Amino acid sequence: MAFADYTSRGAVAVITLDNPPVNALGLKLRRELAAGLERAAADTAIGAVVITAGGQTFCGGADVSEFGAPEMHAAPNLADLIALVENFPKPVVAALNGTTLGGGLELAMACHHRVAAAGAQLGLPEVKLGLLPGAGGTQRLPRLVGPERALNMILSGTPVAARELKDTALLDRVVESDVAAAALEYAQRTLGSRAPGDAAPLKKARDIEIRFPNAEAFFDFARGAIAPLAKNYPAPAKCIDAVEAAVLKPFAEGIKLERAAFVELLMSPESKALRHAFFAVRAASKIPDVPADTPLRAIKSVAVIGAGTMGGGIAMNFANAGLPVTVLETSQAALDKGLGVVKGNYESTLKKGRLTPQQFEQRTGLIKGTLSYDDIAQADLIIEAVFEDLNVKRQVFEMLDAKAKKGAILASNTSTLDLNKIANFTTRPADVIGLHFFSPANVTKLLEIVRGAASAKEVVATSLGLAKQIKKIGVVAGVCDGFIGNRMLNAFFRQMELLLDVGALPQQIDRALEKFGFAMGPFRVSDLAGNDIAWYIRKRLYVEYPDRVFSKIPDRICELKRFGQKTGAGWYDYKPGDRNAIPSDLVTKIVLEESARLGLERRKVSDEEIVERALYSLINEGARILEEGIALRASDIDVVYIAGYGFPDFRGGPLFYADTVGLPNILRTMRGFARGYQPDAWEPAPLLQKLADENRGFASLGNRS
Ligand code: NAD
Repeated sequence: MAFADYTSRGAVAVITLDNPPVNALGLKLRRELAAGLERAAADTAIGAVVITAGGQTFCGGADVSEFGAPEMHAAPNLADLIALVENFPKPVVAALNGTTLGGGLELAMACHHRVAAAGAQLGLPEVKLGLLPGAGGTQRLPRLVGPERALNMILSGTPVAARELKDTALLDRVVESDVAAAALEYAQRTLGSRAPGDAAPLKKARDIEIRFPNAEAFFDFARGAIAPLAKNYPAPAKCIDAVEAAVLKPFAEGIKLERAAFVELLMSPESKALRHAFFAVRAASKIPDVPADTPLRAIKSVAVIGAGTMGGGIAMNFANAGLPVTVLETSQAALDKGLGVVKGNYESTLKKGRLTPQQFEQRTGLIKGTLSYDDIAQADLIIEAVFEDLNVKRQVFEMLDAKAKKGAILASNTSTLDLNKIANFTTRPADVIGLHFFSPANVTKLLEIVRGAASAKEVVATSLGLAKQIKKIGVVAGVCDGFIGNRMLNAFFRQMELLLDVGALPQQIDRALEKFGFAMGPFRVSDLAGNDIAWYIRKRLYVEYPDRVFSKIPDRICELKRFGQKTGAGWYDYKPGDRNAIPSDLVTKIVLEESARLGLERRKVSDEEIVERALYSLINEGARILEEGIALRASDIDVVYIAGYGFPDFRGGPLFYADTVGLPNILRTMRGFARGYQPDAWEPAPLLQKLADENRGFASLGNRS
């Protein structure tokens, strides 16, 4: 199969990129494109070249799977190809449709002319992988669209529609019609204006002179704006340096600086982590025994049972994706309250201008309420989000079994209960699956797809597709207490609370973990989610795991009804209407009292110890989850933590981070903890022990797909 198809239309050679799905610039495509250009150069009947794309996308950019592999450097590499195009003796016109990203846009900018479809999306997203555009993008884009616009595009990584760039030198023509035909016509016209044997120089982005009198103030401002994140994300500062070089230095010097910065970033731990996270998300949607061609069930309508904290948010996801949703409650009052919250959420988005009035009408119009199961009997997907109580779940699933149409997917949003038991409340356990959303359900990216023992493959495959449709990241988990995310979280919280007994305070723990990069420390998170939820779970754990020792401090906080922000007090104090967490003297007093009651002499706990205990408790439990097959791969656990728990993406997730620390080092530290207070949690997971003994990391387990 040709990766770059060559044809000619009169005096114009047309090279069509054909490397589905996104025409990534892998080695084979680069070779064929270069061969096509050489053929066009040699053919005296050819006066110009059009590079266009089959399919929906001009080019998604470099083939990221080549990063760090020998193919990336094999000739022609992207820089060679770009030089070939730019120095081509005949005009080269790029026809941009769909999306043109990264290396694809860099290639297009090396062409002498560009014609784009008005809706085409053009962008340089490298910063999202901790990189900068490394094939001339930082030098050519400022020359073509001006330094301000260029820096915006490079720093945000967000694509811009061609129609918004039509007044710039980036685009010679922007068309509403067929872009390949328009580019061909443009190439023919360019030819007509060049006399045969014309030696007039071709238009090259590198030759454009930038005049930018405000350079100093502008770049100072940009550096100030990114400063707060610069420690954890080194790429934006390098992007600024490179664009500044484009303005202040000759092209060749700028290119040199860009290259050096690219190589440095490519080796940086942050970029490695971000690239790991990127591939991890892709891998998560592949399930070894659920092939890509597994039939899917059509989901055209959805029902949600329960209009509480989760039910309302879950309903919004589907309305946002254009699907009608019916929400069922037990009383009109509960229904009105729940739907009122949903409407209020949409109203506030509308007020912020992030929703048009039409979208507001459309989305609110798609959500209806009912008290009758008859109204949801025809739904293709029904998601239960009622109280976390097995008896209540039983009533609901027995009703669903009686009422739901054949083939409907019956899902539970349970956080902790046994999905297999829930499935067996019905006579159709193959249709039952866990769809575990995270609060706030309309915002948090993660969707844990809990696969029961009997869940049908097509139900799993449909759920993964649905996750994409509602713009979530789906990760498949097996059935156990807390699945992937909350099971690890329970181990982590227990450690953090035990640290209070021995010497730390909540605000110190939060600060240490926020410094590590967590979006929010555990005690602030708990105040946000409601301390009563964890209390409820702990009470169950006390019964189920009678030998496990927990700190008593969280219960004492809850006994005072300090449930967090919703009650105006929790681990922290809050002023009315203000979410700012203020360290609480009362909580400090309780913590000190509890240490005294236990006869513990409080010691200084370092931030380093806090981070180690937090991370190693996650890693140890993660290793067990992996070994038990609850998670399919180490990288799935990383995705769960980044997408659902505010784990810093620049650390790549808990198990990626474990490999960077080194498993033998982690075990050594854990052995130290096991000699201290409440050592039971530090029994190493057998998999962790085995990998450490063999001096391997989690990555060595491979990416099963
Ligand atoms: P909630 O108490 O806010 O809401 C539950 C709703 O279900 C209430 O409005 C109640 O009236 C309704 N309800 C109860 N019995 C019903 C029945 N038989 N039929 C119809 N409606 C009924 O609870 P929540 O926080 O939304 O949690 C719901 C589920 O989601 C639980 O299984 C919980 O474990 C899970 N979950 C919660 C969170 C969270 O952060 N709150 C996160 C993930 C999953």
